[in-house]
Amino acid sequence: MTLAVRERVSLQSYNTLAIAAQCGYLIEVSELEQLPQALDFARRHQLPRLILGGGSNIVLADDFPGVVIHMVLRGINVDVQGDTVLLDIAAGENWHDLVCWCLQQGYYGLENLALIPGTVGAAPIQNIGAYGVELQHLLDSVTGWDCEQESWQTLTNTQCEFGYRDSVFKHALKDRFIITSVRLRLSLKANTRLNYQILSDYLAERQITTPTPEQVADAVIAIRQSKLPDPATLPNAGSFFKNPVISVAAFERLQQQFPSLVYYPQADGRFKLAAGWLVEQTGWKGRSLGQVGVHEQQALVLINPGQGTGQDILQLASAIQQDVYEQFAIELEIEPRVYSYQQT
Ligand code: FAD
Ligand code: NAP
Repeated sequence: MTLAVRERVSLQSYNTLAIAAQCGYLIEVSELEQLPQALDFARRHQLPRLILGGGSNIVLADDFPGVVIHMVLRGINVDVQGDTVLLDIAAGENWHDLVCWCLQQGYYGLENLALIPGTVGAAPIQNIGAYGVELQHLLDSVTGWDCEQESWQTLTNTQCEFGYRDSVFKHALKDRFIITSVRLRLSLKANTRLNYQILSDYLAERQITTPTPEQVADAVIAIRQSKLPDPATLPNAGSFFKNPVISVAAFERLQQQFPSLVYYPQADGRFKLAAGWLVEQTGWKGRSLGQVGVHEQQALVLINPGQGTGQDILQLASAIQQDVYEQFAIELEIEPRVYSYQQT
């Protein structure tokens, strides 16, 4: 299988912030055997590589001089065992299309994760989560290419070391393990999860007491569409900062100072703070800095309505981080992966 290598490609349509950075080379991987070949191309030319899915969780700080490997592998394999459905899904499948397809087939579990942009292969990287469900609740294993061992490997759920918007792919296996497929464990039986207040309120307001999985997905889609900008019309990368999780002592100090603090107690005894609330308190919601800004309805979402650069976005992020730190002594961490030439 020959590789199609494109030179000097604009990445503007390949990232949801619509940052017009250029890459040195772009290779689309649509067949498994192309992946080691693409990696070999980067190695022979001594170039850094960037593995790209839907580009909805990255910030391109500068032009990328290396090789972008765009994962467009497709295909779903189904294995039904009793009430359990095991799905092997290729990394390049679109996440939301998968959620919709599963609902049509009567394979349940993904409802709360509807309308998350991006690919299936990127979902384990930050253990995507929304409305009270995280990927780790549904993932059986992950298969991919280990660049160090130069072989195909399968990792169990435990080996993925999932955490809050976190996994082993952000740490020990960062830039080392390239996911080519994900195995999910779904069910033929509906088991809706309604522990997220906004979701349960939405259904209750409509007198839906025992919602079907389809109704849950529809509710999630409607809530998301009412609050979050669609990257196709207003470029953004979703939540730009992680919700900080802090100790009891730090929490008690803050709550005394700020009685209206928005927080969620965690199973491990710590407290998760709503980063959006912190940003809102600093007055950044709806404000702009040069070409970029903070969304009017959702203070966690940075937007690029014009021709903003990656540096513009990072400058805005830094100003927000500084103001949050000055007011609350909390360091906000950027959620999307930032790529800059210096860091590669
Ligand atoms: P990319 O942006 O292409 O890549 C992200 C990172 O993963 C990069 O470091 C990349 O190198 C790496 N990567 C990608 N594919 C692979 C692969 N096959 N193997 C190894 N590494 C890979 N996230 C949530 O968790 N919950 C949400 O509710 C949510 N909502 C969002 C809403 C909006 C409007 C937007 C824009 C984003 C949202 N996100 C959310 C963030 C984002 O959609 C997810 O993180 C998604 O999984 C990223 O997928 P992607 O294919 O676009 O990844
Ligand atoms: P929201 O519902 O307005 O809630 C604000 C924050 O409070 C969320 O970040 C959420 O944390 C937390 N929260 C709310 N209710 C909670 C509960 N019952 N238990 C624990 N935590 C609770 O947030 P939103 O921005 O509109 O997003 C809705 C959901 O979609 C959230 O789960 C969010 O993570 C997800 N989302 C993620 C991204 C992204 O890029 N990562 C973008 C858009 C939406 P959690 O974030 O931990 O859930």
